[in-house]
Amino acid sequence: MIKLFAIVMLATWAPVVLCPPIVILVDRIRLLPARVVGYCFMMMIQIRRDSYHALVLRHELEHLRQIRLFSPLGMGLFLLIHYGWLFLRHRRFGVVYEKSWIEKKARQAMMRATPLPRYILIDGRTIRWVK
Ligand SMILES: [Zn+2]
Repeated sequence: MIKLFAIVMLATWAPVVLCPPIVILVDRIRLLPARVVGYCFMMMIQIRRDSYHALVLRHELEHLRQIRLFSPLGMGLFLLIHYGWLFLRHRRFGVVYEKSWIEKKARQAMMRATPLPRYILIDGRTIRWVK
């Protein structure tokens, strides 16, 4: 059981740490409300084409940094406990999102003027390095 856990941990954490961010421009983030402009899963960041700018990119890159730090499984577990606790306290998803520690950190990161890392941009059939 511990071996299986270690294998799953490594198989999910290694690509997130080793791969550069992959930014995919889309018309709409599927499975999420239409107002959502960006989303980070593993090392893949989806950003709505009409919202592709440094602020949104920095926000999602901060989520990638958090996933790299805590590991994908660790982040999933943290989100489950943290969001679960916030939901028990506030009973509204909007408030949970607003008060979430990871979202607060991502909103702070949006305002930092640090250089953006090199990333792979996928826009339709075009794939290229940025920076
Ligand atoms: Zn966010």
